[in-house]
Amino acid sequence: ASEAEEKDLVIIGGGVAGYVAAIKAGQSGLKVACIEKRGALGGTCLNVGCIPSKSLLNNSHLYHQILHDTKNRGIEVGDVKLNLGAMMKAKETSVSGLTKGIEFLFKKNNVEYIKGAGAFQDEHTVAVNLVEGGETTVRGKNILIATGSEATPFPGLTIDEKKVITSTGAIALEEVPKKLTVIGGGIIGLEMASVWSRLGSEVTVVEYLGQIGGPGMDKDVAKQAQKLLQKQGLKFKLNTKVVSGDADGEGVKVTVEAAKGGKEETLDADVCLVAIGRRPYTNGLGLENIGLEVDERGRLIIDQEYRTKIPHIRAIGDVTFGPMLAHKAEEESVAVVEYITKGYGHVNYGAIPSVMYTHPEVAWVGQNEQELAAANVKYNVGQFPFSANSRAKTNLDTEGFVKMLSDAETDRILGIHIIGPNAGEMIAEGVLALEYGASSEDVARTSHAHPTLSEAFKEAAMATYDKAVHY
Ligand code: FAD
Ligand code: NAD
Repeated sequence: ASEAEEKDLVIIGGGVAGYVAAIKAGQSGLKVACIEKRGALGGTCLNVGCIPSKSLLNNSHLYHQILHDTKNRGIEVGDVKLNLGAMMKAKETSVSGLTKGIEFLFKKNNVEYIKGAGAFQDEHTVAVNLVEGGETTVRGKNILIATGSEATPFPGLTIDEKKVITSTGAIALEEVPKKLTVIGGGIIGLEMASVWSRLGSEVTVVEYLGQIGGPGMDKDVAKQAQKLLQKQGLKFKLNTKVVSGDADGEGVKVTVEAAKGGKEETLDADVCLVAIGRRPYTNGLGLENIGLEVDERGRLIIDQEYRTKIPHIRAIGDVTFGPMLAHKAEEESVAVVEYITKGYGHVNYGAIPSVMYTHPEVAWVGQNEQELAAANVKYNVGQFPFSANSRAKTNLDTEGFVKMLSDAETDRILGIHIIGPNAGEMIAEGVLALEYGASSEDVARTSHAHPTLSEAFKEAAMATYDKAVHY
């Protein structure tokens, strides 16, 4: 970047929030630069999050299925062995292909990619400490902060990413730990617990609350998920808090007690995963140089147009409010560029889906029963089990159900909660229904191909305002 040139938009952070905004800005004809310090584009999601975790989830599931679920399908397999190194290589191939793909898209859309760490010098100038050495500055008419998040550490347990790990260590272990303790039964905890349990670890998940799944998961779904994961060998300690941890000796000792207080117990493991949430990341960004502050949870404060109190400096993605999800960041990227170029943009925060990629998958959108009850909304419930769905039966994969919640008076769909095979793909139909303000009857009167899992979705809709046919 030359010091003289002023960009229309300078983006700090090349994660999903930053890189999508950069491409959109380039497509809209803005002069745009994107600063990323990691050495690769794609941020947490592509490098150490969504993508590598899904690679390991997919391949560990295949391995587990080949070990435990082939005979009754008429398939006899011989000597099945795990080659963890090769499984990690497959993960790396997926990651590097995707991150290089973004570099290509940057070139195609005239985005200048600056490899380095950016820090505000003043309200229009970002100083960049270049990865390859040296410094430069870049000026922007508009500046977008998209610096993402990092794992929240657990006090007293020092992360070394070998013995005491975050998700970053959990997607890169060099051998299968005999015993793994997971602190936090949210989505990261359960996805990573699934991977290592399938590959042979004895896994215990410690969760402070009385329910697994993290924020937003419907209680019935969470209960069913726990039952099914327990059947796969995971152990759970709910309503339990971690009192202290000690990683000085051979393995890692974690002392826990009932959340309300009680007798202490020590869990011994080779590795301990800390998965108690993530926090916004603004270290080294020089916010103090421009007088920008963060809230009590470290989030940059913004208005509905993503503006900080300095109007030409905006923030999106994990570094600010809302669920920490890649597709939420992506929606905001498009909207923020539209606010800059056109003055208006749009994100429907009421229709952002959540997916947990365990087996079976869990997916939901809109409100859950507990939230509706708390808001005194009168609602109808329609539920349909996959055990009554022809395709699930054919696939010998019948665990779980679809649950639909609609307004008791208008039948408008308020929430959809699925646990079952392919829930993550099926929820897209639910998101669309919610976006279009559909009633459960609208969905029930829509033809769904037979035999597909999505017929369970249609039948749950039928059961919401009338009766399902096959159950
Ligand atoms: P990030 O992806 O964190 O990107 C921010 C980037 O900014 C980083 O690359 C960082 O290096 C860079 N940066 C920071 N400071 C500076 C600076 N000063 N100068 C230059 N660069 C800087 N979400 C889903 O929707 N689906 C999933 O399946 C899913 N799986 C996940 C699995 C794991 C293990 C984890 C940890 C997260 C997962 N997430 C998932 C969440 C998802 O990764 C995040 O919501 C998403 O990455 C947020 O994008 P972002 O661009 O806001 O931030
Ligand atoms: P989370 O907030 O989803 O779950 C953290 C869990 O840890 C909660 O259930 C909480 O009650 C528990 N907890 C907190 N402190 C504890 C303590 N001291 N002892 C025991 N339990 C404790 O956070 P996460 O699982 O770390 O995930 C972080 C973010 O990444 C989330 O926003 C998540 O949506 C996102 N993510 C999404 C996906 C996906 O979409 N598939 C995958 C991974 C991560």
